[in-house]
Amino acid sequence: MTAVLADRFDGFIVDLDGVVHVGGHPLPGAVETLSALARDGKRIVYLTNDPRHARATVAARLTGWGLPTPPAAVVTSGWFAAAEVAAGGARVFVIGTDELRAETAEAGAVVLTADEAGVADRILVSGHDGFDYAELRAACRAGANGAELFATNRDATFPMPDGLWPGTGAVLAAVETALGRRATALGKPEPAIFRVAHELVGGGRVAVVGDRVQTDVEGGRRAGLPTVLVRPDPVPEGTGPRPDHVVPDLTGLLAPG
Ligand SMILES: [Mg+2]
Repeated sequence: MTAVLADRFDGFIVDLDGVVHVGGHPLPGAVETLSALARDGKRIVYLTNDPRHARATVAARLTGWGLPTPPAAVVTSGWFAAAEVAAGGARVFVIGTDELRAETAEAGAVVLTADEAGVADRILVSGHDGFDYAELRAACRAGANGAELFATNRDATFPMPDGLWPGTGAVLAAVETALGRRATALGKPEPAIFRVAHELVGGGRVAVVGDRVQTDVEGGRRAGLPTVLVRPDPVPEGTGPRPDHVVPDLTGLLAPG
C-alpha cells in the first residue's frame, strides 16, 4: 500500500468553515475523506471559530451529512469562551445568538438582557446576524461600569458560497472602538482552545487541519502541533507561519505524502 499523508498521524483537529463545508454545504470529497479516516481508526475532533451554534447543533449537522459525531467531538469558540466567561457564576452580557446565550448560561453564568447589561461583570462579543445598535449600546453601558471585555475570536470574516461575510472581528471592532479598549479573544489562534481540542482527540500524533494561516496554522504552531493547510492555490510568501503540509482540499490527506 502506498503511504499517504494521513498515515503520519493518529488523530486530527479539523477546522470546519472552508475545510469541511462552506455555508452549510459539504465541500467535494470532504465527507468521503473523513469517513475513510474514521474507518482507519483516526480520531477526529472538529474545532471551529464559528460562535453561532452550540456543539450539539454542529454535531447534528455533521451526523446528518453521514459523519457520526458526538457533541464531545466538537469544540467551538463559543462553547469554549462561554466556559471562560462563566467562571465564578459571573453576570455576563452576551452579544451573540440565542444558542450562545444558552451555552453561556449552561456553563454557569447569569446571562443578562440588554436592559440589565449595566451590572455585567463580563461582556462576551461574538459575530451574529442579529447584531445591532442596541447591543452595542448595552455593551457600552456594561463597559462604562467596568465589565471585562472578551470575544470568541478575532476572525474578520468567514467564507460563504457568495464570498466572505463579516465575522466576530468586525463586530468586535465596533465594540472595542466604542469602549476604547481591547478585548481578550479566546478562540483560535490562542493555544488554550487547541489544548482542549488536543485533549479530546487523545494521545498520539495529532495534526491541525485548517484553511487559514493566521488562525489554524498560527494556532497549531503556538500549540506545538504539526499543521496541514487546506488551500487550493499556492501560499504567498510572507503571509505568516509556514504550515508543515499543504493540500488542495481534504482529499489530499489520503494522497501519497
Ligand atoms: Mg476555516
